[in-house]
Amino acid sequence: MSLPYDSRQSRFTSFPNFQKFIDTKTVVCKYGMTISLSAAYQVSNFQRHSQSNNCRYCTNNQPSIKAFFSKSNLEENNDDNNQTNNEKNSKRCTLMCQGFNDSDYVNYIISSPASFGGGKKPEVVAKELFPEKFSENVSFSRKKLGNKERREFEKALEFEATWRLDIEALAVYHMQCETKTNNISAICNKCEQLKSNKRLNEALKAVSFNPNFML
Ligand SMILES: [Zn+2]
Ligand SMILES: [Zn+2]
Repeated sequence: MSLPYDSRQSRFTSFPNFQKFIDTKTVVCKYGMTISLSAAYQVSNFQRHSQSNNCRYCTNNQPSIKAFFSKSNLEENNDDNNQTNNEKNSKRCTLMCQGFNDSDYVNYIISSPASFGGGKKPEVVAKELFPEKFSENVSFSRKKLGNKERREFEKALEFEATWRLDIEALAVYHMQCETKTNNISAICNKCEQLKSNKRLNEALKAVSFNPNFML
């Protein structure tokens, strides 16, 4: 399985301090520091750098040249002034919520025909919406829905859903994702709740046991 690299790159470009890629495993931030990634387009090292005090772009939110001239001052303050440290922490970059994008989640997104999850079961929703189509002894299949019906069906699923499968970002988000976060994990508080969501965990498990799993 090859991942669409564009969507992996967009995880970097959503950081305000992202400057450019040197290659698939090296990134430069707007403060001018080079960060090596542990694997191609693996965002975690860059994320850690962005949230640390090492990235002055984030802690001061000023362009690199200005930071360069006041660098020695900052260094001293940094070392033995706790109050300044706390202030710096409070000025951390606000990050875009990255949702969940580990391989388990990616496999789930790729193998699921649905864009939403955690609401009523698709067959239940379909039977409620189109009782004449899916009577007692007619089994549900998306293929039996016309284009217009399918849109109506997706809307109903969305209304009931707890999480969203984003095929472009290859990430799973809470329906009420806060979009931006100060959490070091780059996952907002709402999305964090999904970690302990029993139904989502079951869906992830179902995919990993059966690679051909379909909802
Ligand atoms: Zn930096
Ligand atoms: Zn979120």
